[in-house]
Amino acid sequence: MKICPLYLNGDWLVSSPFEQVINPATGEAIAQVSTIDRARVAQAIADAHEAFQSWRKLTGKARGMFLRAIADEIENRSTEIARTMTLENGKPLAQSRTEIAFAVDHLHWFAEEARRAYGRIVPQQVDGKRHLIIKSPMGVVGAITPWNFPLVLAVRKAAPALAAGNTIILKPAEQTPLSAIALAECVAAAGLPKGVFQVVLGDAPEIGQEFLQNPLCRKVTFTGSTEVGRILIAGAAQTVKPLSLELGGNAPVLIFDDIDLDRAVEGALAAKTRNTGQSCIAANRVYVQRPIYEDFLEAFTARMKSLKVGDGLEKDVDIGPLIDDAGLTKALAHIEDAVARGARALCGGKRFGDKGFFIEPTVLADVPDDALCTQEETFAPVAAISVFDTEEEAIAKANDTIYGLSAYAFTADLDRAFRLAESLEAGTIGINDGVPSTSICPFGGVKQSGWGRELGSEGMDAFLETKHVSLGLQI
Ligand code: ADP
Repeated sequence: MKICPLYLNGDWLVSSPFEQVINPATGEAIAQVSTIDRARVAQAIADAHEAFQSWRKLTGKARGMFLRAIADEIENRSTEIARTMTLENGKPLAQSRTEIAFAVDHLHWFAEEARRAYGRIVPQQVDGKRHLIIKSPMGVVGAITPWNFPLVLAVRKAAPALAAGNTIILKPAEQTPLSAIALAECVAAAGLPKGVFQVVLGDAPEIGQEFLQNPLCRKVTFTGSTEVGRILIAGAAQTVKPLSLELGGNAPVLIFDDIDLDRAVEGALAAKTRNTGQSCIAANRVYVQRPIYEDFLEAFTARMKSLKVGDGLEKDVDIGPLIDDAGLTKALAHIEDAVARGARALCGGKRFGDKGFFIEPTVLADVPDDALCTQEETFAPVAAISVFDTEEEAIAKANDTIYGLSAYAFTADLDRAFRLAESLEAGTIGINDGVPSTSICPFGGVKQSGWGRELGSEGMDAFLETKHVSLGLQI
């Protein structure tokens, strides 16, 4: 079986013990990946600190050219990377290709932003002073990423961190390290100086603590569960380490009776089933206005039934496997719980096949507010649908959660669209849009969905310190 090294200070290191990577479509091991201990992670931080001394001195334009070179390397290898991503994550090949294109777009966006780390000059209040606000890179960044978008979420952190003049150490999820290693291969081929970008793997809590406690690591950026986010916040309290956190979601979809039914069905379907429902912005609760409720259920169920389930490497597959047995068990438990509380299962509801971790696309109607699948992320192609009467009631239901990453609404009424945009408690709001993410706009959560924003110009700012320089002048 293939043994994969880690990328440390410009070298490839094979180091045991190895961690197995499993193909979720078959349950079989596909590779073994090296791991390192906490002391070696501390060495990586020291090397990154050393590399920072010269990387920070490059112009934004020069750093942007490196990012473009990484993007070119990813594009050149996109066929191979897409296959790797599908093998380790399970997502349909076409969606792996979309993720790669999105990662390339992130790199281009931040290559451009590298030239725009603007400060400002503030008019003086007293004679003989001038005030400059300047932006400086922070230093070594520790990044921890999840398995559901193994390339794009790593690039979403690495590209702005590097563009801003920082160096970065990436700790990918143990389920999907191969995409991160592929990214390291592209970084190496693009000729970035040693130590500027590194990939580590090992005991996740220990690596997290090293990032938090090591004084040379100046920022930790994380995408993952709210549970682990809370652990990082607790750890950061000791060293007052700046954190960016993109945590869990529980996205509502509000469908009003003035919208064209097909448009609402397709939008909700995209928001629900993309990445086999395993996205932190996936539609988790669908609320439909009473006059179109039964028609929506019928049309939506027909579309869910038409989706092809299978190994992501097969042609025209829409729904791949869930990431692992725990993911499958959780989704099945959510279905059982909803049905026990009175929900109607309109399609699906069971495990699909007998190998890997597949589930049938499932539609649950009349799901009560206290069902597990409306309280927590189901992270599966399981749609929990219920009815509402008024806009006020819909907004109250949508906001009745500790999370606030994304929300969706389908309506033809412009006034209502603005009322919703202003009252829905979420960092991203898709109005008649089931796929709202883009490199050029900020992404992040309100409430317990996280701190800070990625992407857009805000995504760069997350990796820059703002300094005030006060100049005393005799003029
Ligand atoms: P998920 O439920 O999506 O797997 P997690 O939050 O458990 O999300 O994992 C996201 C990332 O956080 C992974 O890279 C994982 O290895 C890492 N991780 C898990 N536990 C910890 C921890 N205690 N400290 C730091 N990182 C952790």
